[in-house]
Amino acid sequence: MVTDMHPPRFLVDSTAVRLSRWLRFMGLDVSLDSSESVARLLLRARREGRVLLTRRRELAGAREAVLLTSDHLDEQLRQVGTAYKLAVESASRCTVCNAELVVVPRVNADGRVPEFIYQSHRKFAFCKRCDRYYWKGTHWKNVRDASARMSDTDR
Ligand SMILES: [Zn+2]
Repeated sequence: MVTDMHPPRFLVDSTAVRLSRWLRFMGLDVSLDSSESVARLLLRARREGRVLLTRRRELAGAREAVLLTSDHLDEQLRQVGTAYKLAVESASRCTVCNAELVVVPRVNADGRVPEFIYQSHRKFAFCKRCDRYYWKGTHWKNVRDASARMSDTDR
């Protein structure tokens, strides 16, 4: 299913939790739902205008759902990125709560992150909702790599 919504909003069930964290980190609006009821998942997706991303085979062909064809994160990112032509922004949502991150002055992170992280990083982002700091380190690099892979298939 391809939608005109830009950017699309997603609902992820318990079969693709890891993917949900990466999509959030890329700035996408992703809700997690641990419900085991397929009917409930579809209802929520429809009500909230979200695309359900799942590994549940019984959802193949459902209008509200995209069946992920692989268990591997890379493949899942590529599949979703290709289907929705995602323009990925770097690190704009909290991987834990889905709130938008704000970039904060470096000094704000002093004493709030490990000292070696503070000393070795220039850029920090903050989640107001869960009081959590993010820094531009290995994780952001990985996210950039993943998003590059996502757009590979477009070329
Ligand atoms: Zn948060």
